[in-house]
Amino acid sequence: MKKKLTAFSVFLLTALLFTSVAFAASGRNGRYQDKLFQYSTINAIMQGQYDGEMTLQELNTHGNMGLGTLNGLDGELIQLDNKFYQVSSNGQVKELDGKMKTPFAVTTKFDAKKKVTLSNVKDFQDFSEKLKANFDNKNHFYAIKIHGKIDYIKNRSVPKQTRPYPPFTEVTPHQTVFEDHDVEGTIIGFYTPNYASTIQVPGFHMHFLSDDRTKGGHILDVKFDSAAVEIQQLSEFDLVLPDTEDFANADLTKTTIKDIEEAENDK
Ligand SMILES: [Zn+2]
Repeated sequence: MKKKLTAFSVFLLTALLFTSVAFAASGRNGRYQDKLFQYSTINAIMQGQYDGEMTLQELNTHGNMGLGTLNGLDGELIQLDNKFYQVSSNGQVKELDGKMKTPFAVTTKFDAKKKVTLSNVKDFQDFSEKLKANFDNKNHFYAIKIHGKIDYIKNRSVPKQTRPYPPFTEVTPHQTVFEDHDVEGTIIGFYTPNYASTIQVPGFHMHFLSDDRTKGGHILDVKFDSAAVEIQQLSEFDLVLPDTEDFANADLTKTTIKDIEEAENDK
C-alpha cells in the first residue's frame, strides 16, 4: 500500500512539475514578454512635474525604443536602438549620454510581431485610423515603429522651464513647430486606450527622428504615400512613479482628457 501511494505521489509531482514548467514557458516566450515600461504619468506632466529621478541609462535597461522628455521639460526625447536624442525647442537634435534624467518616459523592448504597409496617409487622423485598423485588441497598448520617406511632417518641441514650474497647458502656447517635406526617418510611438488617459496620451503619442539626425520632435501632423509599419502588442505594463516631494504634493486629479488632447495634438 505504502509503495503504491509513493508511486502515485511521484506521478502527481511529475505532472505538477510539467504543468508549472509549461506555464512558465508560455510566460517567458509568449505575449507576457511584450511589456511597456513607463516612468511617471502624463497627468503629472500636465501639472508641471518636470523633474524626475530616472536616468536615461536606467531607462535603457527597460527598453530600446521609446519617447518622453528631459528634466526641466527640456525638449522632446527619442530613444532609438538604445541611443537617446533630444530635440530642443530651437530644433537642434543632440545625442545624449546616459547620465541625464527624465521626468516622463515610455519605452519597450521592441519586438514587432506584425508588419504592414500603410498607404496614402493624408494626416494624423487618417494615420491613427489606419494604424488602429491593424490592432487585434483595441484595449491593449501598442508600440509602433515606421521607417520611410515622409512627404510632410509637422513636429513640435517645448522650451526648457524654470521653477516654479507652470502647468503644461501654459507651456504649449510657447512651443516651437517645425514643418519638413520629403524627409527620410523613423517614427516611433505608442498607442494608449482611452481608459488609461491619465497615465499616457490617449490614442497615439508619436515622436520623429530623421535619418541624418538633424530633425525631429513630437509629431502633430504627418503625410506619406507608403511606409513599412512594425507593430507590437503590449499586454503588460510596468509603471514606476517618482518618489519625490514634488510628486507627493501634486494634485493629479485636476487634469482632464481635453487638456491632454489640446496640449499633445495639433490645434
Ligand atoms: Zn511627445
